[in-house]
Amino acid sequence: MMKGSFPTIAFQSLQTPFYYYDLDLLQRTLKEIRTQASEPHFHVHYAMKACVHPAVLKTICEAGLGADCVSGGEIEAALAAGIPAERIVYAGVGKADWEIKLALANDIYCFNAESEAELEVINALAAEMGKTARIALRVNPNVDAHTHRYITTGLEENKFGIDLSQVGHVAVSVKTMPNLKLVGLHFHIGSQITDMMPFQNLCVRINELQDMLAQKGIYVKDINVGGGLGINYEHPNHCPIADFEGYFRVFRKHLQLRENQNLHFELGRSVVAPCGTLVTRVLYVKKGLHKQFAVVDAGMTDLIRPALYQAFHRIENLTSRAPEEVYDVVGPICESSDVFVKDYPMAGTRRGDLLAIRSAGAYGEVMASRYNLRKLPASYTSADL
Ligand SMILES: *Cc1c(COP(=O)(O)O)cnc(C)c1O
Repeated sequence: MMKGSFPTIAFQSLQTPFYYYDLDLLQRTLKEIRTQASEPHFHVHYAMKACVHPAVLKTICEAGLGADCVSGGEIEAALAAGIPAERIVYAGVGKADWEIKLALANDIYCFNAESEAELEVINALAAEMGKTARIALRVNPNVDAHTHRYITTGLEENKFGIDLSQVGHVAVSVKTMPNLKLVGLHFHIGSQITDMMPFQNLCVRINELQDMLAQKGIYVKDINVGGGLGINYEHPNHCPIADFEGYFRVFRKHLQLRENQNLHFELGRSVVAPCGTLVTRVLYVKKGLHKQFAVVDAGMTDLIRPALYQAFHRIENLTSRAPEEVYDVVGPICESSDVFVKDYPMAGTRRGDLLAIRSAGAYGEVMASRYNLRKLPASYTSADL
C-alpha cells in the first residue's frame, strides 16, 4: 500500500493528536488554480470556513485569492491575513447586526444576501453609517448536487438562498433601497461534488435566470457560482490535486456571461483538504469477539467529518511495515459514532504506532471542539518541522 511522505521522525517527538499541513502541496494546488482560472474576469475566493490555520491563510493570500466569509470572525481573520477588503465577499443565512456593521465599516466587496428581511436590515444599517452596501442575491437554483444530504445546499428544501421564482421581485425591490447596490447573483449548490453534471446544470439555470432578468431590464456585473468542487478521499497519493481543469472548463463552456461580467468562484475544500493530515497515536489494540479495534488518541472532537457526514478518510500507519490486518479505527470519546473507519485493512498495528488520517485539511481543525473537556489538537506545517 502506497503511503504519503511525511516527516515521521519529527512526528515521533510531538504530542498527538495534531494537524499537519503540507504547504508545498498547497502551493502546487494554488498554482494549478492560477493556471486553470487564468482569465482576467475569473475571480477565485477561498472559502475561509474550510481552514483558518495562519500559515495556510498566508499562503493563500499570497497567491492572490480573495476570501469568502460566513461570519464576522472570518471577515476579521481574512483582513488580518492580509486579504484586501475589496476581495472579500460575505455570505450566510443569519448575519447578525454587528457582523453587518463590521463588513460595512471595512468596505468589503459584497454581501451575498439571502432574504428580503436581511436586505432591509443591511439597508438600514448602511444608511445609519452613511454607506452603500454592494449586494449579490443568493439564489437557490434548485440543482441537486448528488452529494450527502447534510452538504447539499441548492435544493428548494434547504434553508439557503432566495427561491428562483422570487428573484425577479427581490431584485426590483433592492433597487428601491437607497443604500444598497445590486451587483451580483450568487449560487452555491453543495460540497464534495466530483461529478461535473451538477455544475453544468447550475450553468443552465443561471443562463435561464439571466434571460428572465434581462426581460425586466436587470443586469448585474458579477456572477458568483460558489464552491463545492470535491476531492478524491480514496486516493490522496495518486490524486492529490482536485480536478480544477474539468471544473473551470464546465463554466467556460456552459455559462453564458453577458458583456463585462465577472465570474466569481468560492472554493474551500478543494484548495485545502488534501494538504492536511490528522496525526494520531494508537493507544490500544483491542481484540473483540469478531473484530479488532485500533483505539487512537484522536476522536470526533478533533475530526468530526466521519461522525457527522459518514465521510471516509484514508488512514495510513506511518510506523509499521507488518502485514495488513483488518481494524475498526476508533477514538476515545464517549459516543458510539466516534469511529473513523470500520473493517479497514491497515499494516499490522501496535500501541504507539502513528497513524495519518489523510485529506483532513478542510472542515477538520476548524470543527474541533472541547467535548469531554479534551484539549484542542495542535497544528504544524511542513515549514515548522
Ligand atoms: C462552504 C461554502 C463554500 C465552499 O464550499 P467547498 O465545498 O468547501 O468548496 C462556498 N460558498 C459558500 C457560500 C459556502 O457556504
